[in-house]
Amino acid sequence: ASKAEGQNRLHRFEPGLLLVRRLRSQLVEDLRATLKDGGLTLYYQPVVELATGRIEGVEALVRWNHPTRGFIMPDEFIPLAEEAGLISELGLWVLRAAVHQLRDWIDAGLVDSRFSVRINISATDLQSLQFIEDVRNVLKETGVRPEQVVLELTEVAIVKGNELDRYSLGGLRGLGVGIEIDDFGTGYSSISYLRRLPVDRVKVDRSLITGLGTDPTQPALVAAVLQLVRACGLEAVWEGVETAEQAELLRGLGCLSAQGYFFSRPVPPGQIPELLAAQAESPAQQG
Ligand code: C2E
Ligand code: MG
Ligand code: MG
Ligand code: MG
Repeated sequence: ASKAEGQNRLHRFEPGLLLVRRLRSQLVEDLRATLKDGGLTLYYQPVVELATGRIEGVEALVRWNHPTRGFIMPDEFIPLAEEAGLISELGLWVLRAAVHQLRDWIDAGLVDSRFSVRINISATDLQSLQFIEDVRNVLKETGVRPEQVVLELTEVAIVKGNELDRYSLGGLRGLGVGIEIDDFGTGYSSISYLRRLPVDRVKVDRSLITGLGTDPTQPALVAAVLQLVRACGLEAVWEGVETAEQAELLRGLGCLSAQGYFFSRPVPPGQIPELLAAQAESPAQQG
């Protein structure tokens, strides 16, 4: 009887699966089209120096403004782009859009040479030698200093990677761009790796600070992670800061930089001048 039920269950779900598949392939077609006709946009979220409240840079976060479905978030369409073989095209679009945006902010006198734009790159980008060329080209065509561009790579992408990836990391590093490990603490947490990788900073995943301000054991954990990261010769950025209390605790523990809804949600580029101006008026607002 249980076998029959199993078959029944399969049968019952099949139309749903077909529908999902049809929706997915429609979305893939839409994504393919939108890469051509400019339906993607970048939002930017400030990264803040905890001691002063200065905005030291912004992270570019891609959004898809779908004609009928409204805004679609990257967690939904990045995996789709990966599967459909569109991720390289998407990655190149993001890279170019973000670095050109930085150029515009520099030209407008809004940011100085310490300000950086952080760009999320996929494992596929990392595996592509073409991507290194793309980075080189966009730096050349914009004249942006390489230190002002920081590439964020997930821990999973790096640790799963092979020798070629490490070669690519070295190649990217050779261009002078910054490299940061994203979502640190969620993947393999391979500490021995951390010491050997040609990276500058880690961005600690927000899951490591969610209990900060409520769970009394959490500050000790944050302190330990910070110590570990620094023992590896790196610096940490803390993401997912949602309350003043969390910001204050991190600052008190000696953390340097953070990002999160407390400081600002990701915003369209048009709102960045306003955020930069607010920062200039009260440089120690977080301090
Ligand atoms: P991520 O790189 O770790 O980016 C941080 C995510 O956390 C963003 O979600 C951001 O909006 C969100 N976030 C920021 N502050 C807070 C906070 O205080 N609380 C909470 N709960 N969340 C916060 P988003 O924009 O939906 O992006 C999700 C992920 O999609 C990113 O995670 C990144 O892995 C990926 N992604 C985004 N843009 C790109 C892109 O251009 N290329 C690639 N390959 N991946 C991207
Ligand atoms: Mg990121
Ligand atoms: Mg992250
Ligand atoms: Mg993430």
